[in-house]
Amino acid sequence: MSAYSGKYTDELIATAAYIATPGKGILAADESTGTIGKRLASIHVENVEANRRALRELLFTTPSALQYLSGVILFEETLYQTTAGGKPFVDVLNAGGVIPGIKVDKGTVTLAGTNGETTTQGLDDLAKRCKKYYQAGARFAKWRAVLKIGPTEPSQLSINENANGLARYAIICQENGLVPIVEPEILVDGSHDIGKCADATERVLSAVYKALNDHHVLLEGSLLKPNMVTPGSDSVKVPPRVVADHTVRVMQRTVPAAVPGIMFLSGGQSEVEATLNLNAMNELKEKKPWTLSFSFGRALQQSTLKAWGGKTANVGAAQKAFLTRAKANSEATLGIFKGGAGDAASVQSLHVKDYKY
Ligand code: 13P
Repeated sequence: MSAYSGKYTDELIATAAYIATPGKGILAADESTGTIGKRLASIHVENVEANRRALRELLFTTPSALQYLSGVILFEETLYQTTAGGKPFVDVLNAGGVIPGIKVDKGTVTLAGTNGETTTQGLDDLAKRCKKYYQAGARFAKWRAVLKIGPTEPSQLSINENANGLARYAIICQENGLVPIVEPEILVDGSHDIGKCADATERVLSAVYKALNDHHVLLEGSLLKPNMVTPGSDSVKVPPRVVADHTVRVMQRTVPAAVPGIMFLSGGQSEVEATLNLNAMNELKEKKPWTLSFSFGRALQQSTLKAWGGKTANVGAAQKAFLTRAKANSEATLGIFKGGAGDAASVQSLHVKDYKY
């Protein structure tokens, strides 16, 4: 057995290492047209191309923010969009030292005979799409597998199916020059305690890395995007230090040191909560052979969205909110976040039951 080796080996390793640069992280701005529609509806803005473009331009052109990012995940529509002035977003990001990425999964479908567990679609034409996205400037990809915690979940069927799907996705990306972000998200929904989440995350990640190895995925040219280990959304919260201890232990047990970066999703945590939890992990003095960073969607955009409200006059205020979050999360990747970055919107829970991205 040997890992992928070919035309893209050196490039994949360099791209993954760059994305995992300490002090930088990923903005997940790859909400599908349906999902971004819900975000825009929350601020009473119509879900049309012009408004989706305006929101993404606001984010990508925030003065001084790109220094805190190493990657931005885009939805297909955004990969081909430009600023109002006609500059391709891909060029804006590259000029700021930020690598453009692309969401390549096609959402989830239910696994028959399970209690609403799912598998992710999109493998059939994936190689073709990866080639097209590489040509358009994307250098990494995201595929979200979704698992859940319940009395008998995640089931072995859903673990096997999703681990195998992630591995097929990852190797197809690598064969076509894209660094795969491997995302097995265990939803926070439920009343379970943190121990149950730790057990489930450990089982899932062990299976994922077994599958990645079986499929000859080059781990040095890949990144992991997991959930943090937390109690369920209907359970009592625990302090950041407890989340950090559980999360880092699970990662130590399951994620090979060959993986350059673990880029956490925020999964419905409030903006401040996600930052504090990430910071607490990086404060730990334990063995951590990977960069621990962020690939936040909701926890990087919520206060920005609220400050913007779809009005041109508010763009400055919205960009200020985005810069605050980007800087705070950059500090959290170094374990030097001192708090204080938050208004009402940033402490609001962003949990949505059974979240679809
Ligand atoms: P959240 O940070 O909002 O959970 O989203 C990250 C993401 O990209 C999920 O696929």
